[in-house]
Amino acid sequence: MKITAVEWGRISIPLRTPFKTALRTVDSVEDVIVKIYTDTAAVGYGEAPPTGVITGDTAEAIIGAMEHHLAPNLLGRDVDDFEDLMLLTQRCVLHNTSAKAAVDMALWDLYGKLHDIPVYKLLGGARKHLVTDLTISVNDPDTMARDARIAIDRGFDCLKIKVGVNPQLDVERLSAVRGAVPVGTTLRIDANQAWKPKEAVRILNGMQEKGLDIELVEQPVAARDLEGLKYVTERSYVPVLADEAVFSPEDAIRILQLGAADLLNIKLMKCGGIYNAMKIATMSEMYGVECMIGCMLEGRVAVNAAAHLACARQVITKIDLDGPMLCAQDPVHGGAVFCERNITLTDEPGLGVTGVDRFERVGILEK
Ligand code: MG
Repeated sequence: MKITAVEWGRISIPLRTPFKTALRTVDSVEDVIVKIYTDTAAVGYGEAPPTGVITGDTAEAIIGAMEHHLAPNLLGRDVDDFEDLMLLTQRCVLHNTSAKAAVDMALWDLYGKLHDIPVYKLLGGARKHLVTDLTISVNDPDTMARDARIAIDRGFDCLKIKVGVNPQLDVERLSAVRGAVPVGTTLRIDANQAWKPKEAVRILNGMQEKGLDIELVEQPVAARDLEGLKYVTERSYVPVLADEAVFSPEDAIRILQLGAADLLNIKLMKCGGIYNAMKIATMSEMYGVECMIGCMLEGRVAVNAAAHLACARQVITKIDLDGPMLCAQDPVHGGAVFCERNITLTDEPGLGVTGVDRFERVGILEK
């Protein structure tokens, strides 16, 4: 199976409601889609969301990396030279993890199609079903309580609550949400780097003392502040999950060795795809640290790839793959079935995606 062309373009998917975190507010998913064509009928699909505030990858940067660095390496190559293609993808340009992730997943898709096996099985997985949480945007406490009730009515029993905009209000926000949901609902929170270490410990322990029963907190302090992260991890009653602090496998080693977090959040867009995500999962397992699989605001091509990875690794125990459930429409054909909190993989070869509607081509490189 030889690669004959690489094409990239944009899609836009409206959200059900604006997505608000401590870092940004957005109302639609604006992703770059990558298609890798071969000399057989097989096409590999990848997706990269431009999440400038987290990865530094804008749409223009993703497109530039595709055109000048990633696509030229792929043309004419045999998909069976898989490890070589994986290494080339990671090494041909520094950073640009979202563009690399899009190419990585399209190559896994093709490799699975070539060998007629779904990617989760290729990775050694046996489970096909995941249950995801749903994100509640940061707003005033009453709005968040209302949004939480709507999520419960949709069948979700685990909510990820965004906090960190105006920290004085965060305990009030969580109290409002806890009061609005049934007993037994799991609440996890994401501060998106908003707090100072001492402030984080005060807020988190205050929440637990109020009986708000927080399962875990994501990235309480600045991404680069590993000492601050460790400080919070050692003093907070709430388990701490590193998100923006862990991009690469090298970041993961440092956090694991330091004991700077209780849990790690793996996202394909931070680590550059499934190839590196597997390394993070393996290292975490060695240290006895469980992982969350997360996503950016992204469509079903990318989240489907993350679901295949999650189904293959038992160390991934927390599922935060709600991107498609936040969207008002789904332009993707094939792949895992997302129905509210339930994600069910199919046994189609590769990643199973067969098409993406409303794709607007930006560039193509052909042999
Ligand atoms: Mg997060």
